[in-house]
Amino acid sequence: NTFAEIDLGEALNQNIRRCKYVKPTPVQRHAIPISLGGRDLMACAQTGSGKTAAFCFPIISGIMKDQAAQRRPGWCCFPLALILSPTRELSMQIHEEARKFAYQTGVKVVVAYGGAPINQQLRELERGVDILVATPGRLVDLLERARVSLEMIKYLALDEADRMLDMGFEPQIRKIVEQMDMPPPGVRQTMLFSATFPKEIQRLASDFLASYIFLAV
Ligand code: AMP
Repeated sequence: NTFAEIDLGEALNQNIRRCKYVKPTPVQRHAIPISLGGRDLMACAQTGSGKTAAFCFPIISGIMKDQAAQRRPGWCCFPLALILSPTRELSMQIHEEARKFAYQTGVKVVVAYGGAPINQQLRELERGVDILVATPGRLVDLLERARVSLEMIKYLALDEADRMLDMGFEPQIRKIVEQMDMPPPGVRQTMLFSATFPKEIQRLASDFLASYIFLAV
């Protein structure tokens, strides 16, 4: 009933207290245990429901607990988690929240979005990245320049997926996810968040998720 009762790792629990989050919102109450349990998730949730924390907490907690991942070779440009979001504004917002949650956990969050010079984003990536927050167009650009690799991605979160499709990002999203489907297979955990659940989102869910749990709040 409270975050204190969920073992997310001491540093993350402390940051949650610092953010003055005491009780999980409905989407958090259901999504966090599902994701901590390793299951894929399709969640219908609106803006303001607390969905950012719902996907950030399991990702940060998982990376903190995965010592092998922390010692991986070629740390820079090999993120372990990818959060895709439709716009630069939303990406900046997710980045800011994720950074607060990841404070002093050793988990590094980097953001990359279009409409801003790419060079500074490249330099940030080269300093090391665990969680990459990105818009689809800019990420495809980075992939084409071979400046980031998705082969180590263990967690994928798609935020506001219906909006990304409305904006015409489906080809980019498919291209991005294809890059993760390299061996070893079956290690990726995916969370799909959408305000609505039309046919197009159902198709994404069946293509990207493995025996997922459907959550509507
Ligand atoms: P989101 O839907 O992720 O954009 O979150 C909406 C707002 O609710 C943000 O300002 C969050 O900081 C805040 N928030 C999210 N989860 C909680 C919580 N469990 N307790 C208090 N505030 C929260």
